[in-house]
Amino acid sequence: MRVFSLARLANQWVGLDGLSFWHGITPIVLVDTAMPTSRLRMSLAHELGHLVLHKAHGLADRRVSEHEAAKFAAAFLLPSDSLSTCGIRTYNVDALVQLRAVWGASVAALARRLYEVRMLSEWNYRQVFIQLSILGWRKGEPEDTERPLPSEMSVLLRKVFTTLRTEGTTHPAVAEALNLNIDDLDALLVGLLPTAVSV
Ligand SMILES: [Zn+2]
Repeated sequence: MRVFSLARLANQWVGLDGLSFWHGITPIVLVDTAMPTSRLRMSLAHELGHLVLHKAHGLADRRVSEHEAAKFAAAFLLPSDSLSTCGIRTYNVDALVQLRAVWGASVAALARRLYEVRMLSEWNYRQVFIQLSILGWRKGEPEDTERPLPSEMSVLLRKVFTTLRTEGTTHPAVAEALNLNIDDLDALLVGLLPTAVSV
């Protein structure tokens, strides 16, 4: 799966977290790498869901396919078997903030998934979202500054660019070989590589 950054374009297309498609036999994902890590992880898993589930019949019914991709992402990142061993029995926003650092998912995503796998009652689920509204976290949760989630970087791209640099291949030469201008190449890689490797 090839993942590129959508950061610059996403700024122009408000509300677009990511998109994916097959190019021949190659799955391609573009994501807004400027998003908080928890949202980025969910978006990557969501696009993986589209690639796996909707290759054959495409996106005929968009509402159904979006629902399926969201369910896939939640199950992929928050498997019910592992969640059931997390040991917490009382779920409120404080408890879910603790779990957020473990699972790399937002409090809202955790609450939804716990409700889905019947580890959270409907009443508790509603209470969590009431608390999130009171905190003003419904449109976006603040980063956990004490335990920030590590950024999701591309392991493959890092290896490729490290090897190229070791071989003496410059950044402009990579852009030229790909028939891209250097700004467009950088825009595709932003947020996916440590700066020390990409420059
Ligand atoms: Zn989608």
